Amino acid sequence: GDQRLGQIDRNLQSYHQEGLAAAQSAIGDEVLKLSGSIRGQARQLLEQEQLLLRERDRSSRHSANLLRVLAVLGIPFGILVVGLVYQRLVREIRRRSRAERDNTEANARLVASVEQLEHHVDGLAELNRYGSLLLSCGSADEAVELTARLLVRLLPDSGGTLYRMRASADYAEAQAHWGVHAASGAQLVLPSQCWALRRGRSNFCGPQQPGPRCAHVAEDVDAGVSTACVPLAAQGTQLGFIYISTHGPLPEGRMPLVQSATEQLSMALHNLDLQERLRLQSIREPLTGLYNRRYLEESLARELARCERRGLPLSLLMLDLDHFKAFNDLHGHAGGDALLAAFGQLLQQHARAEDIPCRYGGEEFTLILPEADTGTALACGNRIVAAARQMRVAHLGQELPAVTVSVGLATWQPGENGTALMRRADAALYQAKRTGRDRVAVAG
Ligand code: GH3
Ligand code: MG
Ligand code: MG
Repeated sequence: GDQRLGQIDRNLQSYHQEGLAAAQSAIGDEVLKLSGSIRGQARQLLEQEQLLLRERDRSSRHSANLLRVLAVLGIPFGILVVGLVYQRLVREIRRRSRAERDNTEANARLVASVEQLEHHVDGLAELNRYGSLLLSCGSADEAVELTARLLVRLLPDSGGTLYRMRASADYAEAQAHWGVHAASGAQLVLPSQCWALRRGRSNFCGPQQPGPRCAHVAEDVDAGVSTACVPLAAQGTQLGFIYISTHGPLPEGRMPLVQSATEQLSMALHNLDLQERLRLQSIREPLTGLYNRRYLEESLARELARCERRGLPLSLLMLDLDHFKAFNDLHGHAGGDALLAAFGQLLQQHARAEDIPCRYGGEEFTLILPEADTGTALACGNRIVAAARQMRVAHLGQELPAVTVSVGLATWQPGENGTALMRRADAALYQAKRTGRDRVAVAG
């Protein structure tokens, strides 16, 4: 190249100095050879460049193909990965919100059950109090009233009636009501009209209870009303049942408490019944040891029949201590009792073996004198009046003041029954009181 540039320089010089012709003649063989060699070298160079270019082209096409393959495979893979991550994320979010919801629900359930528990504990405390009060009840009426008061508190939104079996056991009678019934019940219920009495088991009837509707429940009851009959029974004896009615479902949580209350009431009623029966069955009165009134009435009828049959007389004395209320007020009830017991003994002492001395009630006594006519009875009455006047009673180490007694005497008249005879003796007693006490008055 440098040689050729030198040749060109030289040619240009000869052109400037000697003109075109000289320059043309100066371009000789050497120049032609040199330019030919340059041309050859340039051709070689070109060919090498083209080779390199083709090589590079192939390599870049290969890279492009690789890239395309990568792109074709990579995009779905990427989408897949993103999709998986998204799914995981959504699942996690759902899980968390579900857990949160569960948590809230569990919380609400917990609060509700705590409230229910507190309610239940209150109910149990009520029941406990009721149980101990029930033990101190002296009569069935008291026990029934106590139960009604308990059930008002246990079932504030319900109406209720307590039915007790009559002594004849032919039907149950409503004895106590509380609240307002959603479906009123009958006043008298035959055992066949109540499923609880028929089966001896509680009967529930309402939208959520499948039991049959009892016949004692008012007929025009709408379907939303629930009723319950819980039997009262002890030792195989039906004592009655408790009827409850309410709008809507029965308070399920409270029914076991009601059940427990009815069991306690059943036992109490049964015991009171037993006590009453024992009291009636015993013929002696504990304070004075005399016969009681029930025995008096029975034996009077028997003795009257016997004397009438035999054509014998019968007299009856009614005795009442004078001013005994004042005596009681002055010396206390215990002092009064001591005097009553002493007078009981006195009466016993003055009675013959066949006579029947009774404490009629309070400070009133009766003496049946079978086979005694008015004269005999009057003598007996006078002896008693005199003895009472003499009677001295010690109480708490002190002697109580003397008392007197007034007596009414009646002798049986043909056709007269025991009640009429007693009424006449009573009238005579009041006459004795009116005429100055401390004496016997004879019925006309
Ligand atoms: P009277 O002379 O008119 O009979 O006067 P009284 O005060 O006796 O009048 P009343 O018959 O009305 O009063 C009876 C009194 O007897 C009332 C009560 O204080 C007393 N009493 C009744 N039963 C008992 C009892 O079981 N024990 C005692 N300690 N007192 C009784
Ligand atoms: Mg009296
Ligand atoms: Mg009296």
